[in-house]
Amino acid sequence: MRKFEDVKIQVMEIQKLVRPNIKALAPYSSARDEFKGEAQAWLDANENSLGTVSGGEWNRYPDPYQLAVKEDLAKIKGVVPQQIFIGNGSDEAIDLLFRIFCQPGSDKVVSFTPTYGMYKVSAAINDAEMIEIPLTSEFQLPDFNSIKDKVEHCKLLFICSPNNPTANLIKAELIESYLLNFQGIVVLDEAYIDFASDASFASRLQEYPNLVILQTFSKAWGLAALRLGIALASPEIITYLNKVKPPYNINAYSQQKALEALQNVKALNETIAFLNGLREELNSQLSELALVKKIYPSDANFILIQVDDPNALYEYLTELGIVVRNRHSVVAGTLRITVGSDLENELLIDALKKYRP
Ligand SMILES: *Cc1c(COP(=O)(O)O)cnc(C)c1O
Repeated sequence: MRKFEDVKIQVMEIQKLVRPNIKALAPYSSARDEFKGEAQAWLDANENSLGTVSGGEWNRYPDPYQLAVKEDLAKIKGVVPQQIFIGNGSDEAIDLLFRIFCQPGSDKVVSFTPTYGMYKVSAAINDAEMIEIPLTSEFQLPDFNSIKDKVEHCKLLFICSPNNPTANLIKAELIESYLLNFQGIVVLDEAYIDFASDASFASRLQEYPNLVILQTFSKAWGLAALRLGIALASPEIITYLNKVKPPYNINAYSQQKALEALQNVKALNETIAFLNGLREELNSQLSELALVKKIYPSDANFILIQVDDPNALYEYLTELGIVVRNRHSVVAGTLRITVGSDLENELLIDALKKYRP
């Protein structure tokens, strides 16, 4: 296994990337930070001691660090709880990374286009310049040496694998070369990794002090409504995320439901296998249609297709109540289609068969 020593950027240098005001920050100390354990009388947090007006037991503040969830999640991910941060969706983790590492108005970050739009929005909110570098024609990362000069002094570098909206995995060797050579934080968004044929980089966190992996409960776990994003990283980086986050960022209901989901790994694996089967079926049905000019290879739960007139086709499907994502403005000629249920996929294919431009 590769050691921390081989990576250009060392743990000590991670500290140097952090904004000085964040390094100096004395975080808010909540009631649950100051006393943990059992008590006879909970009189420290100004909650309603009688209960909840509508029934149920929601009158107590939730665990600010979601330790029960992290313990079970850690076992599944092969990490320790200290390497896990849970956010109110992945978007919260993305925003916090900007706030920790990027001085508004001066620091820069990098992404590879086309990709997930949230990185750029979060950069704009935090007044960090986003340097956008095109992926290759195969939607792979360019060779690190060819972009080295452009990314010098950048604080964060976003890699999305499998990438949204192109659906392909980024080659592991390329990701490794970026982790070894980029002198900032590499944020590897693995929102769709559960559907992919490559393994997660989670098992390799020990090798890379500058790696932050984003995962989510929103896709394979089927819990998008709960808003639960995951960041996996070195304990040093997780400590900063905890320092900057709102004290009770994950509500009690979400924590409870996440814990329940974590007891159902077998069902998770079955659902992944089933959805991947539906993807292959949808893929072969789409490939038989003349109007589909190209199907991009997918390692996710969606398929990007190219057609002659994506705007017209989008309108046609929408009128039939079939909503896909028009990605024409991002990748010319394309629509992004989520793998649906059997019934949804059938509705889509039937509609496409009847389409007369
Ligand atoms: C869906 C998705 C996420 C997950 O976002 P949540 O806020 O956790 O729901 C993250 N990254 C990418 C690229 C996505 O497509």
